[in-house]
Amino acid sequence: MNKYICSRCADKLGLKTSARTSDPLQSQYQVDKWYKHTIPSTSIGYQTLFDSRSGDYYAGVIYDAVDLGFVEEDDQSRLNILYCPSTGSRIGRAFARGQDLGPQDMVRVVKWSEEAGIHAMLDGSSDFSAARCSRCGGPVL
Ligand SMILES: [Zn+2]
Repeated sequence: MNKYICSRCADKLGLKTSARTSDPLQSQYQVDKWYKHTIPSTSIGYQTLFDSRSGDYYAGVIYDAVDLGFVEEDDQSRLNILYCPSTGSRIGRAFARGQDLGPQDMVRVVKWSEEAGIHAMLDGSSDFSAARCSRCGGPVL
């Protein structure tokens, strides 16, 4: 079961201070991840694609997500950052082997404390509409 920490509590705890947002396209690994989330492929089982293929846009949404997003602790104790710029406003789409699964309105940033690992994909805010902060009990969105 995933746990969540809202942006305000995450800031109070200093949880996001180790984020490495200065250049999310500095390693080949990161460039490969960026391609995976901007270029459609029918061979990928599940893929989320940003509408924008701009590297500046990509770096910007990662920066914004770390600045304003909430933290998810997944069942493997990884801390991911999630940010919804505007609920229901599409910033990309999800696909399964090329089949369109619908719009996505949320940025998911993973490996964010790793200089050459931080990268982003998309998610849908509807999965988090009932999610509450494990610290203060407030909504995370
Ligand atoms: Zn909170």
